[in-house]
Amino acid sequence: MILENLRKELIRAGIQLKEYGLVTLTGGNVSARDYRTGLIAITPSGMEYHGLDLEDIVIVDIDGNIVDGIRKPSSDLITHLQIYRAKEDINGIIHTHSTYASCFAVLNESIPVVSTTMANEVGGEVPVAKYAPVGSHELGENIIEKIGSQQAVLLQNHGVFTFGKDVYHALVSAVMLEDSAKVCYLAKNIGEPLRLSQEEIRRANNLYQYSYGQN
Ligand code: 13P
Ligand code: ZN
Repeated sequence: MILENLRKELIRAGIQLKEYGLVTLTGGNVSARDYRTGLIAITPSGMEYHGLDLEDIVIVDIDGNIVDGIRKPSSDLITHLQIYRAKEDINGIIHTHSTYASCFAVLNESIPVVSTTMANEVGGEVPVAKYAPVGSHELGENIIEKIGSQQAVLLQNHGVFTFGKDVYHALVSAVMLEDSAKVCYLAKNIGEPLRLSQEEIRRANNLYQYSYGQN
């Protein structure tokens, strides 16, 4: 079987999305690009993450031709491919409808950086990509237009896409963005949260990227 490890990473990420409460039933999707072959592995459409087997993951080339798979790929496949084509350093993508981030998306309101957590792990204010239907070319273009140094973009009236150098980092961004969106949402209920300065966001993000943890 080709790309067995990448398939395992996708299934693990999908299960973690469920465990962190970021997806409901079959909402959202996960993909990753294999850096050696350039092939993309993506979750199947409308299947629950907990029951996925390795053969349920669909392998496609960058043009969306199925290379290996018995399932219909995610309905967001086109969008994932557009992002991979546009951004060489992105090799993992996660899409969710996580509750707090989606509240901002349906208000068409970006999520400001009001905590060090958000600065560390999302890297900047998260903007909203203009609404377009799922699977449309326009949706991908609207998202790409909003990708900057931050690891996430909201989709107006829909949800959120997060990115990373691999699927694990896209997962970390999805989890921490939701955590930060929750803090911001709740804080807004009792006052006006203070924003971190651009300089402080950069400093916190650098520290997290290069010296946090054991590496
Ligand atoms: P799929 O199950 O086809 O991946 O669709 C889920 C989704 O969130 C569509 O935006
Ligand atoms: Zn969706």
